[in-house]
Amino acid sequence: MEEVRKDKKTKLFLHLKKWLEKAVLDYSMIEEGDRLLIGVSGGADSLALLDLLDSPMLFIPKFSFIVVNIDMGFDPSYQAYDELEKYFQDNNYRYVMEKTDIGNLAHSDFNKKNPCFLCSKLRRKRIFEIADAEGCNKIAFAHHRDDIIETLLINLFYGREISTMMPNQSIFGGKLHIIRPLVYLREELVKKYSRERQFPVLKNDCPTSRTSKRIYIKKLLDELEKDNKEIRDNIYKAMSHVKPDYLLTRDAKIKNVIPNPDLSGEESIKKKI
Ligand code: SF4
Repeated sequence: MEEVRKDKKTKLFLHLKKWLEKAVLDYSMIEEGDRLLIGVSGGADSLALLDLLDSPMLFIPKFSFIVVNIDMGFDPSYQAYDELEKYFQDNNYRYVMEKTDIGNLAHSDFNKKNPCFLCSKLRRKRIFEIADAEGCNKIAFAHHRDDIIETLLINLFYGREISTMMPNQSIFGGKLHIIRPLVYLREELVKKYSRERQFPVLKNDCPTSRTSKRIYIKKLLDELEKDNKEIRDNIYKAMSHVKPDYLLTRDAKIKNVIPNPDLSGEESIKKKI
């Protein structure tokens, strides 16, 4: 184990570790004695999160963790499941793995329109149950900076709200917290670290993973960045510069006022329901 840890100390590792620790401290994600459930899908991001959290910490207090993988059942041979289990065993991780049929259920005829909604809901439900059974008070997910940016746009474009994933989210009245220690890290660097450390990254067999709204937004941002390299940075920074006074209000006096595109100027905003 010590040998593996020495290999980790590359420039990239130190960079990622520094920003992970900073995010954890900035958002008080981990406290002394916490027991974390680290969600590991087998993708590059979650394997990087696991590896980074399993490193000697400079500033973060002592905590323990268990690794949890929910297999979605896309691969009936469970080859990926076996590979991941071997990795957990080789690294002496304490883990819980479950074989489920969530992926197929989410893609069944009655749910073709929005497989991601049901898929995420069922997977989270199982993760919450395992956290409870294993005495975990925090759940760590591998959402990084790019996920935060993309989620903001998904919620804005399709959910009619301005919100994103929180770095430290209290749920069930504070009984559990969802934490996202990679919140400051760019996807590009997390993936690079995964290649550098040669994690056994599993292929994503989900048919929706290539056509999801997230992929659409990712491509859209790539396209926009051809003209302006700062686009992602600007969106990310804008989330810390919110000016509620310069957004629409739900003030009682004007809540029944609707814009009417058929009228012009003043009239259009004064017209009442
Ligand atoms: S992309 Fe696939 S695995 Fe991911 S949430 Fe959607 S249905 Fe589930």
